[in-house]
Formats: sequence, structure tokens, C-alpha cells
Amino acid sequence: MTIKLFNTINRKKEEFIPVNKDKVTMYVCGPTVYSHPHIGNARAAVIPDILFRLLSSKYDEVVYIRNITDVDDKISEAANKSNKTVNDISSKFTKIYHANMRSLGIISPTFEPKVTDSIPAIINAIQNILDLGYAYISEKHVLFDTVKYKEYGQLSKKNFDEMIDGARVEIASYKKCPRDFVLWKPSDSTMPGWDSPWGIGRPGWHIECTSMIKEIIGKESTLDIHGGGNDLIFPHHENEIAQGNCMSSAKYCNYWFHNGIVLVDKKKMSKSLGNVILIEDLLKNHSPITIRLALLSAHYRQPLNWTDRTITDSHTLITKYRSSIGNIEVTEKPKQTDNEILDILSDDLNTPEAITYLSKLSRYAKNNTQDAKKLINAALFLGINLLDKSQSTKVEQVDEDLINKLILERNESRSQGNYKKADEIRDKLVAMRVKIKDLDGKTVWEYISN
Ligand SMILES: [Zn+2]
Repeated sequence: MTIKLFNTINRKKEEFIPVNKDKVTMYVCGPTVYSHPHIGNARAAVIPDILFRLLSSKYDEVVYIRNITDVDDKISEAANKSNKTVNDISSKFTKIYHANMRSLGIISPTFEPKVTDSIPAIINAIQNILDLGYAYISEKHVLFDTVKYKEYGQLSKKNFDEMIDGARVEIASYKKCPRDFVLWKPSDSTMPGWDSPWGIGRPGWHIECTSMIKEIIGKESTLDIHGGGNDLIFPHHENEIAQGNCMSSAKYCNYWFHNGIVLVDKKKMSKSLGNVILIEDLLKNHSPITIRLALLSAHYRQPLNWTDRTITDSHTLITKYRSSIGNIEVTEKPKQTDNEILDILSDDLNTPEAITYLSKLSRYAKNNTQDAKKLINAALFLGINLLDKSQSTKVEQVDEDLINKLILERNESRSQGNYKKADEIRDKLVAMRVKIKDLDGKTVWEYISN
């Protein structure tokens, strides 16, 4: 099975060949946690989730990293407005994000680094870039010197003027060139800040992702796939490439994977238009699998235009699929692979074609148990469990704090040699449908899927 992906940097569909065939690495820019997740956030999580499932069916190990941006001016603003601390806001919305994504059947990433836990790595990376001469200090800021990096612009293919006109390029007195970007900025007492060689401050957004990637995969390793919404191509991902290529002899990343935006009735979602659709509101009236199927209904590279029809069409399909499988008894554990669904998804993640395939199977499933089973398996590969009768409209509430506390207790028991207690805690977690894995000295967890 050959997986083909559209690689933004080369503007074409290419065969995916990982650096190391036994271990694929993939990073996706995660949420900035300051408000309730909307359908745009959900699409940005469900598309890489399908890619992760596809890669996991072919490769022994897929390391999937998705970060949490828990330092940002938007979070500080939300905290100031509501008289809360930055940490109150970011932990509240991280939990809500996790609960919403879990409801939509999104598998937890292998690693989920938070910016606040990665400050030493970020400071190291900035110092490294400064030492190599690709950055300069000005008015308490550390800035990346884009003139020094000759290949700047290779991802977005923008010329100099287009970059300056870009809405996200800030023109400021401390910059040598307007397209230079901040690696570190000073914080006053109202902003979160950390001690650094350049004074109390906080990192710029772009260096956070690069540092977290390098900290996990290793500084001299090339990332296989870097994903995110296509609104991140410039300047965020362009800047990541500049930083990553300068600080290491290894190429930063081989495949750039971008999903299109979500529109509501052909308009961009915005607070001012009042057309932001939140996941938790959708979950009040629709089953998670209906929402998931709706999010997969457009090709990932195209915009997804969300209308009332999007969700009702999806509901109709789910109802049809369910009625076509009837009360089929599936005694054996459903196989997670179906060659046809794998072939369809291997061609640049063609989810609309995958849905057409489900509908085709559904036409024959009523009279043919084999087709019914195929339908169940193919849907399951897309993260849609047609047999799960518990698919209700309620958001699953899970106590993540308790899970983390139990993991900590288990690790303590293990380090004290009390393996009996460690095993008991593991069993308790399994009863909570939580599977734990010890990876590179860290314990990660995920929900046990059906
Ligand atoms: Zn990022």
C-alpha cells in the first residue's frame, strides 16, 4: 500500500516515504486554549486523526505530537477580562478541548507538550539560533534575522512585498527588517513571564512549535510530516522552517500537510458575525458520530462549507447505515483494516470517496452479512462505530485529574519496587477504559477504543 499525500512545499501529491520505515514522526499545531472549541478546531483535529489511523495501519510506530499553546496574549486577555489567572483559563479550556475531541472519537496524540512545560527547551533553542548568528537582540526582544536565511519563503512562495503585506507581519521599531519575527519578547507584570538571558519574558509563537518538535524527536532528526490549517502556512510554518533549518544540520521536515478552513454558509466564522459553531452546542443535539462524519464530508484540502444541510445529510447517512446493518451480531472483534477503505484513504486521504464507499456497502448490507460486516469495519476505520448504541448526545465527562493522579501513583509504586500496587493501579485504569504506555521514560495514556 502506497500512501500519497499532497505536499504543500512542492505543491504536488507525492508518495509518502518516512525517514525511518519503522518509526514515523508527525506534528500538528494544536489549539490555543482560551475559549470553547469550534468546528474549525474539530476539523483541524479530525483530519490528522484519520492520517494517524492510516499511518498506524501501515507502520509499526507512529509518533504523533500535537501541542497545547497555553501562553498567548489571547489567553492573558481572557484571564484579565474574567479576573482569573492565565493558568485558570488555560487548564479549564484544555480540559474542555480534550473532552470535546474525545467525544468526537479523536485518538489522543502520543505526546502533547504544553508551552509552559517547554520553556527551558525554548530558551535553549533561541540561544542556539543566536549563537549561530541567525538572530539579534533589540529593545529586549530577540528576533530572527530573515535576511541571513537565504531560503526564506520556500513554503509560502511569497515574494518580499507579499510577505510585508501579510496581515500577520507586524511592523515594529525593534525589527531590522519588517518580516523578521520575534523569538522572545519582554513581559511586564500583567503578562506571564520567565527568567531568561534576555530578561523576564515569554516566547514568540513560532519558536514554541519548533522547540517542542526538536525536544521530542531530537535536534538532528527530520520530522516526517508537519500539519496544521492552511492559514498557518505564512508566517507560522514558514518561520518554523527558517528556525528549524538554521539550528540543525538535519532538514526540518519532509512533508507539509495542510487542511482547508471551515466556512459557515460560505462565510468565515467570526465572533462579530455571530456564526461560530461550538462543538459542545452541536453535541447537545447530534450524536458524535454524526458530527464526525459531517467533518469528513469535504476533502481535507478544500474548505468545508458548513450549512444546516451538512449535519442533516450526515444524520441521514448514519441512520441509513445503521438500519442497513440491522441487528447484526458481530462476535469476532471487528477487523480494523479493509483493503478498499485503506486504498481510498491512501490516495491523499480522500474522505468523500470513503463516504461514497460506505454508502455503496450500505446498499448491499441489508441482504448480505459480509457487506454489513465490511460496512461496520470500514466505518470503524474512520472512527465511526455504528454498533455503539450508547452514542448519545451527551458530552462524555471524564476526570483527567484523577487519571493523571493514578499514573503518578503507579510510577511512584514502581520506583519503590511495589509492582503489585503498580499493577493494581494499571487494572483500575483499564477499568476506566484508559490504556497506559511507558514511552521514553514518560507515561502516556489513551482511551481504549471499542
Ligand atoms: Zn505551530
